[in-house]
Amino acid sequence: MEKITFEKKLRDYIDAKVPIIYIESFDDNKIEKMVLNVVARRTVLEWNEMDGYFVRKRVEEGKEIIMHEEVREDYGLQDVLKTGVYEKELNRRVLIVKDVHSYLEDPKTVAMFKNACLKIEDGSLDTTFIFISEIVKVPRELEKYMTLLQEDFLDNDEIRQVIVEFLQSYSVGHLHEDLLEEIVIAFKGLSQLEIETILALAFSSKGEIDRETIDLIIEQKQQMIQKAGILEMVPIKESMEDIGGLENLKEWIQKKSKILKNMTKAEEYGVELPKGVLIAGVPGCGKSLNAKASAKLLEVPLLKLDMGRLMGKYVGESESNMRRAIALAEAISPCVLWVDELEKAFAGIGGDGGGAEVTTRLFGQFLTWMQEKKSAVFVVATANNIMKLPPELMRKGRFDEIFYVNLPSERERKTIFEIHIKKRRPNDLKNIDIDKLVGKTKGYSGADIEGIVKEGIESAFVKEKQSVTTEDILEAIEATHSLSEIMKEEIDKLEKEYKNRKFKNASKGE
Ligand code: ADP
Repeated sequence: MEKITFEKKLRDYIDAKVPIIYIESFDDNKIEKMVLNVVARRTVLEWNEMDGYFVRKRVEEGKEIIMHEEVREDYGLQDVLKTGVYEKELNRRVLIVKDVHSYLEDPKTVAMFKNACLKIEDGSLDTTFIFISEIVKVPRELEKYMTLLQEDFLDNDEIRQVIVEFLQSYSVGHLHEDLLEEIVIAFKGLSQLEIETILALAFSSKGEIDRETIDLIIEQKQQMIQKAGILEMVPIKESMEDIGGLENLKEWIQKKSKILKNMTKAEEYGVELPKGVLIAGVPGCGKSLNAKASAKLLEVPLLKLDMGRLMGKYVGESESNMRRAIALAEAISPCVLWVDELEKAFAGIGGDGGGAEVTTRLFGQFLTWMQEKKSAVFVVATANNIMKLPPELMRKGRFDEIFYVNLPSERERKTIFEIHIKKRRPNDLKNIDIDKLVGKTKGYSGADIEGIVKEGIESAFVKEKQSVTTEDILEAIEATHSLSEIMKEEIDKLEKEYKNRKFKNASKGE
């Protein structure tokens, strides 16, 4: 059932005597089985932090019998390398090292691997090192001895086959075709082992595979995200009703949600899957709010991509992280992928120096993915300052649309006040003169208004008043500086730029 391509690549690299094969995988058990399969006639040694060092042999008839022939506790990785190389214990053998990434930070271990690689190259040692880890760290010293190998995810037909085989082996009857389809889609991005484990779990607890199995799958995916640590699963409470104004943007998202929610039908009809939206503009005016509300509207998880976390200090680490982030998002899909503060991520593109080079490569990777994306990962990118964004990002074909958000208009401020007062003091709403508040808050952002409402309510409470009045909130306005007071010049400049570039206004005209 494994993809031939991956196993074949592994076999080819081993045959070609590549000293180190670094396999990037979440599922080391599966990879280990595959290695045993591929190196049928060679003894496989393994070292990992938990169990130490032991020997595994594969014995005849396609059935593996695992033998812990020799378990050497307190035998560190450096001991393995030392005796392995000098006493030739590693000769004509394969050494699997699991979760190797943290050991590759240690200069002595790296030097010992390098020494072994030199011997492999000059023919005095015949060993293949197989690193399995979900994190890729390639120290510069080992770069030329190493090949990176990534797993292919199972495609829909393969997932379907795993499920059908499972049902047969447990003599469970057929699933309804619609349910089977839903389960197949939910399983996307999980390994065969994970799929079988979840099926077994669902079956042992309920005696059948049903819709609740999908909840188990989603739980499993959440754990994957947490474990990988490069994406954050953001809890969503906000919905479209919590956003005041920005009707053009909201309507556009509603339209796209209709497509995303009826993906199969839409594709059959000839509609292309939406790629995503870039929302630019003044801070505190509802950009993040829109990312969250989009996920709520689509009823899918919201994954936040933090570019700062992607940047690693080892060769290829940032690119590998980006690849993993994308693979994870595709695995979790359908989902919303929120790239916050896009301008920070891609600042320094095209500049000189190592940092800029990595950023430029990451950017290229991201653009290519956006361009070719066929999965139901809806990207919501937000940016405060588009002047810092590379123009390629804003060309057609990347985002479906680019919106800019401005400081809220009079009409918008009115709804924003209503939303925030209603949320906290629903009974006071009718006694508050919203128009008066609106008149005094020209140039204030949505976040400013929220702050003012909170402040007004707090001071009314401290004064032990029964209800919150217009006066309380007016006092809070007096005490607050508006965003446009603080950054007027910058806001004006940005607005001009948005108009020049013909971005869509997120708000409807007055
Ligand atoms: P940014 O545009 O910087 O991403 P946010 O969306 O995070 O701003 O806004 C910060 C907070 O300000 C929100 O959580 C919300 O409470 C309030 N806010 C901003 N804009 C609006 C709006 N249009 N309607 C209602 N609340 C808003």
